[in-house]
Amino acid sequence: MATAKVVKDEASSATGSGIRTGAQYLAGLRDDREIWTQGQRITDVTAEPGMMRGAHTLASFLDKQHSEEYQDTVTYVAEDGLRCAMAYQVPKSIEDIRARGSAYYEWAKWSNGMFGRTPDYKNASLMAFSAATPFLAQGTKGPGGDAMAQNMVNFYNDVRRNDKVLTHTLVNPTVNHAMAASGKFSEKVALQVVEETADGIIVNGARLLATLGPLSDEIEVFPSTVLRASEENIPFAFAFAIPIATPGLKLICRDTYDHGKSNFDAPLSSRYEEMDAVVIFENVLVPWERVFMYGQPELCNQAFGTTNAVVHMAHQVACGKLAKSEFMVGLMCAIAKATGRDKDMYTKGLIAEVMQMTETVRALLYSAEAQAHEDQYGNFVPLRGPLDTSRNLYPKMYPRMVEILQLIGSSSLMATPSEADFSNEMANDVEQYFQLTNLESRDRVGLYRLAHDVAVSGFGNRQALYERFFFGPPGLMASAYYDIYAKDPLTERVESLLASN
Ligand SMILES: Cc1cc2nc3c(=O)[nH]c(=O)nc-3n(C[C@H](O)[C@H](O)[C@H](O)COP(=O)(O)OP(=O)(O)OC[C@H]3O[C@@H](n4cnc5c(N)ncnc54)[C@H](O)[C@@H]3O)c2cc1C
Repeated sequence: MATAKVVKDEASSATGSGIRTGAQYLAGLRDDREIWTQGQRITDVTAEPGMMRGAHTLASFLDKQHSEEYQDTVTYVAEDGLRCAMAYQVPKSIEDIRARGSAYYEWAKWSNGMFGRTPDYKNASLMAFSAATPFLAQGTKGPGGDAMAQNMVNFYNDVRRNDKVLTHTLVNPTVNHAMAASGKFSEKVALQVVEETADGIIVNGARLLATLGPLSDEIEVFPSTVLRASEENIPFAFAFAIPIATPGLKLICRDTYDHGKSNFDAPLSSRYEEMDAVVIFENVLVPWERVFMYGQPELCNQAFGTTNAVVHMAHQVACGKLAKSEFMVGLMCAIAKATGRDKDMYTKGLIAEVMQMTETVRALLYSAEAQAHEDQYGNFVPLRGPLDTSRNLYPKMYPRMVEILQLIGSSSLMATPSEADFSNEMANDVEQYFQLTNLESRDRVGLYRLAHDVAVSGFGNRQALYERFFFGPPGLMASAYYDIYAKDPLTERVESLLASN
């Protein structure tokens, strides 16, 4: 049996700082984690082609937390005196909510939203869970009972003080959709508790999908989207967190989209490969101190909603999507300007559609922040409705933005010689034949290679898939949106009109 060894890395807190450097983060990844790609087990993710540049990019973002330019925006000084990432601050006012929003937006701008899974996403949810102790204190199963709330607070403090990078996995693989629709999981594949011991629970099975999993310090394994509250689902009802380097935990990666090209040739995939992986648990022992919920499907179903974790995550997401949408507008305007089509009504109309989507995200974000309010735990939370609207709209908006970029780019997205063609015997030809009204050849090729990485490449297509699905199945999200929408007064207006006939 494999046992999770929970190692507390005191490196950064020993220096009096709760924010790590990039070098500290990279050093932490060099452990005996079991990561598989292309039939091989990776020995060091920080040196693995196809993965290392994403790790080094994230390391450079962690370094930015230390720079004078960003520190006041992306960090705060916690009550224990440590400077920590802003997402950990428990918000007590609208100003705190706005400060969180500014930090999320700044983090997202560093990659123009193309490194989707920056650590602030998970940090936001962890803050919400640990600040909702009365909710978790309802957990009664297992030794320790309502100590599970304390487990969460301890985990929050460990992650906050050591600036750990988390991933999460929420979804069991589906073997049969009819079975899934009836609220059941396959015992053959779904992650489940197979044994309880004095030390913890032993889990076996698989989960998908962990974005950034191979490059994270720890993984949160939280409740699947919907658990029918029945006896048979008790083994599937839990929330816990363990280090990635836990024996028995195996990650199988998808193909990389970083093919080792230069920043010029692949401006995004050479920098922002964040890697997704299916997670397999082979009889992993999760220590009780890392179990936050167990054996209570109804509690698990309420977890993200009642703690407001979903709202804080949606806040981080909306800020990121704003940065990403602004970038899409900038890219399209740059193409329109370069080609002289910034005077063309058709092109302007297409880009205006992207501008309107961007302003919709901005308006929803500002609405949510301006209407932030105190929650049942005495903390502040942005208004949920506008953020729910944003997270339901964006899976449709982003693929449309990509489609518009393809319409504007057309064959120019294929007319993309490589950087090397500017220094070989083709150099004179590419200098001559790739020029545009307002751009030299090299700049034109650079611009369209960027557009290609957004709208055509494997990296770009994975981005679109990510936007469609990472926050959950669109149908389920829309159904939940319908359920909580304040529709009764609207229906009553219709009924009142009909009653007056
Ligand atoms: C790039 C990427 C990154 C991701 N990162 C993470 C991550 O870090 N952590 C994590 O936990 N998850 C992650 N996810 C997984 C994500 O949560 C799931 O993709 C999402 O919840 C949908 O589940 P599924 O993929 O199993 O789709 P399925 O449930 O197989 O659904 C497939 C399609 O069928 C539709 N469908 C399903 N059931 C029904 C039904 N009963 N009636 C009608 N239509 C139905 C769905 O809406 C969807 O369009 C990621 C996904 C992607 C694509």
